Amino acid sequence: MITYYQHLADEQATCQFGATLVKLIYNITGDNGFIIYLNGELGAGKTTLSRGMIQGLGHSGNVKSPTYTLVEEYHLADRHIYHFDLYRLNDPEELEFMGIRDYFTANTICLIEWAEKGNGTLHSADLLINLAYDENARRIELIANSSRGADIIAQLQHITE
Ligand code: ADP
Ligand code: MG
Repeated sequence: MITYYQHLADEQATCQFGATLVKLIYNITGDNGFIIYLNGELGAGKTTLSRGMIQGLGHSGNVKSPTYTLVEEYHLADRHIYHFDLYRLNDPEELEFMGIRDYFTANTICLIEWAEKGNGTLHSADLLINLAYDENARRIELIANSSRGADIIAQLQHITE
């Protein structure tokens, strides 16, 4: 298993890590889509990391939590960024009704909080990210789930060496 861990001391570190990560993803994906599942309990930092990624691609406004809308979308740097939060999803069929398959196309980056609620209706991820409490800070773990996910981890290891 190809994995990467990092301690994130505070909210700023989480945002900064998101910005670094999304730039690597942007550089390797070209016209391809890229999918990240974000796991971790409430308050672990999934939305904060997503905000760091979205702002890292140049978004200067707010990043709303998609808790009630299920998805918020951004068009940045020639990419579509879809930020999902499936916490309130009752039935994975709702995803079929919203046309979930159309989101996983070329030129998109999908960030999916609570992907486990999507149960079988989602494409598999390129990267699995787990966020966990570490006293008052957080710990992030990335697991590669595709060859491009593995490329990203290799680059992160190189940067932080
Ligand atoms: P989630 O989407 O996982 O429910 P949020 O990102 O909405 O979590 O909330 C995370 C909370 O933890 C926010 O209050 C944020 O300021 C804080 N936070 C984020 N990253 C860190 C960190 N590395 N250390 C301490 N607190 C953090
Ligand atoms: Mg959230």
